[in-house]
Amino acid sequence: MKFVGAHVSSSGGVFNAPINASKIGAKAFALFTKNQRQWKAKPLDEKTIEKFKINLEESGISPKHILPHDSYLINLGHPEEEKREKSLNAFIDEVKRCEMLGLDKLNFHPGSHLKKISEEECLDLIAESMNKTLEVTDNVTLVIETTAGQGSNLGYKFEHLAYLIDKSIDKSRVGVCIDTCHIFAAGYDIRDKESYEKTMKEFDEVIGFEYLKGMHINDSKSKFSSKVDRHHSIGMGELGEETFKLIMNDERLNDIPLILETIDESLWPKEIELLYNFIE
Ligand SMILES: [Zn+2]
Ligand SMILES: [Zn+2]
Repeated sequence: MKFVGAHVSSSGGVFNAPINASKIGAKAFALFTKNQRQWKAKPLDEKTIEKFKINLEESGISPKHILPHDSYLINLGHPEEEKREKSLNAFIDEVKRCEMLGLDKLNFHPGSHLKKISEEECLDLIAESMNKTLEVTDNVTLVIETTAGQGSNLGYKFEHLAYLIDKSIDKSRVGVCIDTCHIFAAGYDIRDKESYEKTMKEFDEVIGFEYLKGMHINDSKSKFSSKVDRHHSIGMGELGEETFKLIMNDERLNDIPLILETIDESLWPKEIELLYNFIE
């Protein structure tokens, strides 16, 4: 079975996210558990957690089909120790927020070298930050997202993610999230059956489907291999509907959250319906 949803708003409180997901006909969702543009957040109180759990129960969506996303400010591979430490502390706090909400995943972008250190040095720092996080938390899987490789962002090659998994002290709590727009912009073609199968075969060989914990289902405004991260609505971008038909009929993608991060929220109910209609 497929579990499609979108990255819904949690404005007003995290407990609003399951309500917003239900409204658009989602069977999965992503959310920020705090303001994604600020370092500090008020701790989650009992009442908020209780309300979240009640609303989630009512939505009928299972916690395993929820893919929380961390703050955009966090860079686990920051070349400067003080700033990396700040990121690490914020990241650990986010993992703990997920634990408190009864959620078992946290999706994050690997990090950026900011042209101050090599890619490998940066990956080693990210792995170190991930391991420090694993040491002080339980139950939450750290889900590394593939990126478009814009600027100095790492994660634009499957090998980067495989490297981080390889260095991990607890491989049972590390996973990955494929973002269709990002991998396409990074140079992995998925526009037709042949290219899609080739890319997925490469993914399986380099990383392995057992690590795939979720997907971001986006069309792309930016061109193939452009390294530019610009999402588009389903079927309106450079990917086109064919990619999403292949995804919806790919059994390897069953039972994981498939999350829309497309640019026009008003289209989400239609996009979710369209995706389900692609199933043959
Ligand atoms: Zn992301
Ligand atoms: Zn994404």
